Amino acid sequence: MGMDEPFLGRLCRYICEDVFDRCVARLENYLMSSYDKYNYDVVVIGAGGAGLRAAIEASAQGVSVGLICKSLLGKAHTVMAEGGIAAALSNVDDRDNWKVHFADTMRGGQYLNNWRMAEIHAKEAPDRVKELEAWGALFDRTEEGKILQRNFGGHKYPRLAHVGDRTGLEMIRTLQDRSIYQNVEVHMECTIITLLKDGDRISGAFGYDRERGKFKLFAAKAVILATGGIGRAFRISSNSWEYTGDGHALGYNAGAELIDMEFVQFHPTGMVWPPSVAGILVTEGVRGEGGILLNSNAERFMFNDIPELYKNQTADNEEEGWRYTQGDKQARRPPELLTRDHVARCIVREIKAGRGSPHNGVYLDISWIKKKLSNADDHIRKKLPGMYHQFKKLADIDITKQPMEVGPTTHYAMGGMRVNADSQMSTVPGLFAAGECAAGLHGANRLGGNSLSDLLVFGKRAGEYAAIFAKENAAAAIDETQVSKAAELALMVFEREKGESPFDVHYALQETMQQLVGIVRTEGEMMQAAEQLKQLRLRAGNVRITGNREFNPGWHTALDLRNMITVSQAVIMAALERKESRGAHFRDDYPQKDPESGKFNLVIKKDADDNMIMRKEMRNEIREDLKKIIEEMK
Ligand SMILES: Cc1cc2nc3c(=O)[nH]c(=O)nc-3n(C[C@H](O)[C@H](O)[C@H](O)COP(=O)(O)OP(=O)(O)OC[C@H]3O[C@@H](n4cnc5c(N)ncnc54)[C@H](O)[C@@H]3O)c2cc1C
Repeated sequence: MGMDEPFLGRLCRYICEDVFDRCVARLENYLMSSYDKYNYDVVVIGAGGAGLRAAIEASAQGVSVGLICKSLLGKAHTVMAEGGIAAALSNVDDRDNWKVHFADTMRGGQYLNNWRMAEIHAKEAPDRVKELEAWGALFDRTEEGKILQRNFGGHKYPRLAHVGDRTGLEMIRTLQDRSIYQNVEVHMECTIITLLKDGDRISGAFGYDRERGKFKLFAAKAVILATGGIGRAFRISSNSWEYTGDGHALGYNAGAELIDMEFVQFHPTGMVWPPSVAGILVTEGVRGEGGILLNSNAERFMFNDIPELYKNQTADNEEEGWRYTQGDKQARRPPELLTRDHVARCIVREIKAGRGSPHNGVYLDISWIKKKLSNADDHIRKKLPGMYHQFKKLADIDITKQPMEVGPTTHYAMGGMRVNADSQMSTVPGLFAAGECAAGLHGANRLGGNSLSDLLVFGKRAGEYAAIFAKENAAAAIDETQVSKAAELALMVFEREKGESPFDVHYALQETMQQLVGIVRTEGEMMQAAEQLKQLRLRAGNVRITGNREFNPGWHTALDLRNMITVSQAVIMAALERKESRGAHFRDDYPQKDPESGKFNLVIKKDADDNMIMRKEMRNEIREDLKKIIEEMK
């Protein structure tokens, strides 16, 4: 008895405290289920490159703009971008022009791209880069003082305007300054959890302040989604914590269509060691500067497999490859600069064949260039300062002297909201999308550098057309039932007496996606993933959160989980349906490209009963002049 008393006492206190906590949480939720309300003509969700560029443009058109982001302003995922912005400025090679960029983008996307978007992108990217420079971005320079451009995978000529390997930081810094100059109002650390509608039309967005947990309602005539990607649904990823597919899911739940969801890009070179940093990106810029890939036999294995589509453009010996990286216009690119999908698969093949590095990767070596350049150490540190510090600090590797160990990492979602090529409006009136959460430009595989230019080109267009929409349409009505339903759903997790931790469910989801829907896919494994996802959805619906609403990571994860599960379902559904291998989507059971499958895109939508449905949509015939460009550049 004496022994039991303290135990019983502790138990009673524990139960009382638990009940007390839940009562307090309920009371708090009741008191805080009110919200702060804001009114704008245009609301932009996401303050990365696309969101900032959209907000600047909308504001320049004379409408009021609210910009909302999950993280602090200046900390969006774009800040991590390293290698550069692709634009045919032809500063380094005067043979470059928009037509070559267009053809490269289409070839890289295995011709599933929205050709009109690829055309607009190639034509407008140079102006967007020059504009960024006019707003204060300090690019690296050629000797004549022009913006310097570097080589990158899949680009025929040196095309990436860059600032060392910290281009994203410069881009965000410049756009952030400009948005302040444009009087854009910013709501930082605010997560949008649902879009609001008035009939078919968008009427605003509803979310919560992450720090205090209080709800916020944004009434708007037009909304632009610029929320980035989905990489956090996978275990190994280069993506920031923000990449939980929110925009994809918000749009989908509001009735917008998703397209090309089967195409998830695995970047060939992420860090593999130590485990705490696995997945962190190693920029393609390393290979652009002459870095080579080696297996454990010190063999430069990329020469063993050059795809037919790229044979004419790829060096067949090491000397020619080196000359290309040093700007020799007569030389062809080394095979390390083939497209990401191909390089990633070659790396996986080496690892599976037992020729990998000790930590399940291969070697990426830039230090070898000391055989070619007398000042190689300084050169590497100057060209790749971020990579030098990343490896020194995180892995104790000096890349000027030692090779790096690298392996594929989940990097980019080619799939996303289906938008009109010119205006960026989705299939929902008043709802626009730009940047990584929109789709079409990149088809089955994105070329490096084509994202940052995508953000600028289509961010601007989204802002412009959303402002036009806002001017042409009166304010829409806010439906309070939608608001209270969203609030109730968001708070439910606090009120459960029992339930799992959302972190455990998130971890399980990442394992499922990584192991069963990764770089090499099969029908059997994806069916297994689909089954597991059903269970994960149930588990996600039953998670329980302790504590209160003030900066509660458990709560954030519980809400993000719903989006990641929706997006994962869309990826699996489309990946099962595409019975061929194309671009980033590789099926072990259908290893060849199928010409018939190249004629359609897969479109996903929510039906009236809340079910996810999919249809094949035949691609419209490419315009004759563009077809001719592709033929000429083959
Ligand atoms: C390490 C790394 C290096 C890269 N290097 C390059 C490169 O050199 N060149 C290139 O072209 N591409 C590169 N990329 C890809 C490129 O950086 C991204 O595709 C691009 O930055 C995406 O920009 P975005 O504007 O679409 O989204 P982001 O920059 O991710 O911005 C998304 C914004 O949405 C906000 N958000 C998300 N969900 C919500 C929500 N529910 N409510 C409110 N706000 C929300 C976030 O807080 C954030 O502000 C790189 C990617 C990585 C990971």
